[in-house]
Amino acid sequence: MSEHTHNSDCVFCKIINGEIPSRKVYEDDKILVFHDINPSAPVHILCVTKIHIDSLNEVNSENISYVSHILEKIPEFAKSFGIDGGYRVVTNIGEDGGQSVKHLHFHVIGGKKLGYIG
Ligand code: 5GP
Ligand code: ZN
Repeated sequence: MSEHTHNSDCVFCKIINGEIPSRKVYEDDKILVFHDINPSAPVHILCVTKIHIDSLNEVNSENISYVSHILEKIPEFAKSFGIDGGYRVVTNIGEDGGQSVKHLHFHVIGGKKLGYIG
C-alpha cells in the first residue's frame, strides 16, 4: 500500500506525530509546514500532507484535497516570509528525481536569487 494515514517507518509521519521535533511554521487538519533541517536558501520550508502519500505519483481523486490545500496555502507562506516576489516550489519524485523522504512534500525555497533549473 502506498497510502496510509501514518507510516511508522516514515520520518515525516514521525514529525507529524510529534515523535521527531521540528520548527513548525503552520499546521491545520490537512497539512503541516516546517523548516527544512538542511536549508538550501535563506527560506526553505517543507509542506507535507498529514496523511502518508509516497509521492506525487500516488495522488488520486481521494487524496487530492490534501495536495490542493498545500498549493492553496503556499502563497500565504511565501508572503509571511517576505518572498512572494519570487520563489520556487519543488516536489521530488522517486530515485531519479532525488526524493530522499518517501512522503509527499513540497519544498518552498527563496530569499535569494535562485539559479535556473529546468
Ligand atoms: P527530498 O530530498 O525528499 O525532496 O527532501 C527531503 C528534505 O527533508 C530534505 O531537504 C531534508 O533536508 C529534509 N529533512 C530530512 N529529514 C528531516 C528532519 O528530520 N527534519 C527536517 N526538518 N527536515 C528533514
Ligand atoms: Zn509518512
